[in-house]
Amino acid sequence: SESGNTYYRVVLIGEHGVGKSTLASIFAEVPDSLDSEMLSENTYERTLMVDGESATLILLDMWENKSQDNWMYDHCMQVGDAYLIVYSITDRASFEKASELRIQLRRARQTEDIPIILVGNKSDLVRCREVSISEGRACAVVFDCKFIETSAAVQHNVKELFEGIVRQVRLRRDSK
Ligand code: GDP
Ligand code: MG
Repeated sequence: SESGNTYYRVVLIGEHGVGKSTLASIFAEVPDSLDSEMLSENTYERTLMVDGESATLILLDMWENKSQDNWMYDHCMQVGDAYLIVYSITDRASFEKASELRIQLRRARQTEDIPIILVGNKSDLVRCREVSISEGRACAVVFDCKFIETSAAVQHNVKELFEGIVRQVRLRRDSK
C-alpha cells in the first residue's frame, strides 16, 4: 500500500439551504486549529485518522457559486474525487433535486465509479420531516451510493459522514 498521506477532493452539492456550508464549517472546526486550514472562502482542508491511516480531505463548498456560471458547474462536476449530495429531510423538493444531481453526476463522469454519499441533513427537525429515512435509503440503493442522515445543528453523524467518505474512496482505490 502507499506510504504517506493521501489527498481527496470532496465536493458538496445540493439545493440552497440544505446545510452544506454548516456541514463544511463543522468539518473545518477542530480542537487543534493547526489541523484545520481554510484555504479560501469555500475550501477547507483537514487531515483525519480513519482506520489507523491518515487522509487529508479538501472539502469544496462552491456549488452555490455556480448560478449562471457554466464553468463553475462543470468544474464542480469534474473536480471531485468524491461527492456529498445533500438534501434536507424537511424539504422534499431538495430530496428530488438530489436525485437529479445524482443523474447529472453520472452523466458528467460516465466511465468512473465515483464515491457518493447521499446526505439527509437536519435530522434534528423531527417534527418538520418530509422525507422518511427509508425513502432516503431506498433512493441511495437505486442510485448505487451510500446514505447517511446527519444533523449539522446538533453535530450528529457529521464525523461519521467524513470518515465514511474516506472509506468509500479507499474501497475503490484498494480494488484497483
Ligand atoms: P447551504 O445553502 O446548503 O450552504 O445551507 P446552510 O449551511 O447555509 O444552512 C441553511 C440554514 O439551515 C441555516 O440557517 C443553518 O443554520 C440551517 N441548518 C443547517 N444544518 C442544519 C441542521 O442540521 N439542523 C437545523 N435545524 N438547521 C440546520
Ligand atoms: Mg452555502
